[in-house]
Amino acid sequence: MTTLPEQTLLPEHPTAFPSEPDLVHPDTRVVSTGRLPDADHVREMLSETYERYRHVQDGAVADYIPALAEADSSWFGLSLTSANGHRFSFGDAQLKFSIQSISKAFVYALVVQELGHEEVRERIGVNNTGLPFNSVMAIELNGGRTMNPLVNAGAIATTSLVPGKTWDEKWDFIHAGLSNFVGHPLEIDERVYESEMKTNTRNRSIARLLESYGHISLDPTQVTELYTRQCSLLVTAEDLATMGATLADGGECPISGVDVVDPSVSRDVLSVMATNGMYEASGDWLFEVGMPGKSGVSGGIVTIAPGKGSLATFSPPLDAAGNSVRGIRATRHLSNKLGLNMFASTVQ
Ligand code: GLU
Repeated sequence: MTTLPEQTLLPEHPTAFPSEPDLVHPDTRVVSTGRLPDADHVREMLSETYERYRHVQDGAVADYIPALAEADSSWFGLSLTSANGHRFSFGDAQLKFSIQSISKAFVYALVVQELGHEEVRERIGVNNTGLPFNSVMAIELNGGRTMNPLVNAGAIATTSLVPGKTWDEKWDFIHAGLSNFVGHPLEIDERVYESEMKTNTRNRSIARLLESYGHISLDPTQVTELYTRQCSLLVTAEDLATMGATLADGGECPISGVDVVDPSVSRDVLSVMATNGMYEASGDWLFEVGMPGKSGVSGGIVTIAPGKGSLATFSPPLDAAGNSVRGIRATRHLSNKLGLNMFASTVQ
């Protein structure tokens, strides 16, 4: 009689499915194929989607960061930037809000650009935790390691890898890098920053826990400050669509023409967004929408159609997993209407 191997709670990290560096990631400008429908159709579908979902009342505005609770639940903006730099916007697409968790995807991109695919995969991981974004249990279940860069533990560990000798140099790197994705300098919401710094005891604990396991590369207080500050950068839905379009375009910002990261880095970021970008609902999202996305607790979602462009939504009321209710519905609708689903798509 054969005995079954002993079961572990989570797969062994990080060597369960190692990369073979010589097989992957030739740096080529060819990122993906496909085209958006013509401009009139895109405009019409965005307008129709805006009208269709603007009166949805479900969800609740995040209030665990006190300053976020001041958001108006009726705010709703939609924006799309194509990979060749055309923009379409509806509703509150120019309203500024703090980027929050969406910053994680872009800081990850900057760190992979510096340290490379293998090293960052080894240190941070790429698998979904299946647990809430600020879970401590996910660290304990995984032997003290982070599992992916898009939930708090992995994001804090990723931020600890940012280059720079001093805190200021590290901050300048993050600020300049995220601004490059948009094509203009981003401002900080100091009120949101102060508000979160007063209440982020859980993130401080996560940083300390990672330190205790030796899986963080910077003093926990300093890294929590950096991470909280990156979350407080102000963006609009239009900015987010451009940041996403930079990833859709193989790392070149289609508005400024600047090469922000390499095509292979864009590909890594889109992969972790597909598996982890929507917290524990990432599977539902990929199943319904069929594209990599990343959401944040202030109500933004950025979704990337590789090679085609990026769609961003902003609407503060969130569902139980922390994803914007109107944002999810609008993105799913547009994925169908514009033929954006990566697995099977026709324009309707
Ligand atoms: N700054 C927020 C936190 O760490 C970001 C969370 C999010 O948007 O998921 O709690």
